Amino acid sequence: MSTSIQKTTRRVLTKRGVIWLGQTCNLRCRFCYFQTRIEAKDHPEHPFMSLDKAKSIFDILRNHYGNNAIDIQGGEPTIFPGIEELCSHSAKIGLLPTLITNALVLAKRDACQRLKDSGVRDLLVSVHGLGANYDDVVGVPGAHKLQMQALDNCVAIGMPVRFNCVLTKSSLPHLADVARLAVSVGARAVNFIAFNPFEDQQKGERSLDDVAAYSEVAPPLLAAMDVLRGADIEVNVRYFPLCQVPEDYRQHLYNFQQLPYDLHEWDYASWSFTDMKPQRMREGGLSPLISLREANFRSPMYKSWPNYLADPAISVDDEYRHSALIRSREHCGYRETPACAACGMRQICDGFHGDYAAFFGTDEAQAIASAAVVPGPIVDPRHYINAQRKVVEPEDAAWAL
Ligand code: SF4
Repeated sequence: MSTSIQKTTRRVLTKRGVIWLGQTCNLRCRFCYFQTRIEAKDHPEHPFMSLDKAKSIFDILRNHYGNNAIDIQGGEPTIFPGIEELCSHSAKIGLLPTLITNALVLAKRDACQRLKDSGVRDLLVSVHGLGANYDDVVGVPGAHKLQMQALDNCVAIGMPVRFNCVLTKSSLPHLADVARLAVSVGARAVNFIAFNPFEDQQKGERSLDDVAAYSEVAPPLLAAMDVLRGADIEVNVRYFPLCQVPEDYRQHLYNFQQLPYDLHEWDYASWSFTDMKPQRMREGGLSPLISLREANFRSPMYKSWPNYLADPAISVDDEYRHSALIRSREHCGYRETPACAACGMRQICDGFHGDYAAFFGTDEAQAIASAAVVPGPIVDPRHYINAQRKVVEPEDAAWAL
């Protein structure tokens, strides 16, 4: 499955957009960012939007923002009425579609084949555990068995897959097995996602029941990463402070400043548009278009910057970096710990999430001496990730390699 895949250490800004079709889902994952909206049928973001509205957003992502790929989310996108027509439209306009999916619907081989035939480039399958642990985490008995059948179908018909795996406390004993599963099905990449409450889980809504401390996560996480590294499968870890893993593993850590340089992550510019409520609701029309610089300028962090909207000293990379700081500090509540003040990585690291610090404190933070790496503080967010060999799909080779 992976023979035509190339890898590179060249880091370029991603051109991948994202859409939320509606918060309707066939599972009830207890850590879901949107669990309130998924449960509440009267929430304006709960019902799926129309096929025509989704197509209009896709056209904007392609023609205005210059995106060339899209992550399609629901809730669960495979149960969106018209998903095949939407994927077909997406592929036709040059916005190569990925579904972020639990894949249960694809336990039926013909459903899997129809999606592939509609032009889906790959699936990002949410494998948040295995066996009874998975069924428990997602709240549906029998879900694991269906997901394994779906993965078998993907292998059989040649549908490329990547994995997402949320680092819940109960999943930790299974991480190495998830990694081995990724190897066995030929997954192109695996993303491990650490504690990062936002949306419905913000403001203390997230309970501590299934959250582990970084120091508890690190040993099984590193073991799973070793399985993937040994098989030359790309592995990424999101929302994990740099100081919590040994130096050689930091090339795999993607916090808000690193995410724009991962081709499988979302373009902050178009994300600023699709994240606005009208683009996430069935009812109503679309918002006016907004540039990344305009989106940044709405934040108090940049509102008082003289001539921010037209300052020629601000580069495109700077705009993405400013957006990263807004997302981490303002949207998600990340903040520096006492150790960060003496850390050579403080300019490229998000620090600790405020909710995490409230649960566990900040004693795990350990300042990294940048002088041990290069003299002076590190300012390039690509400092570590420049060493990582990342997947470039054949369609992206001309511009990304
Ligand atoms: S900036 Fe803070 S959280 Fe980040 S690596 Fe340094 S000490 Fe750790």
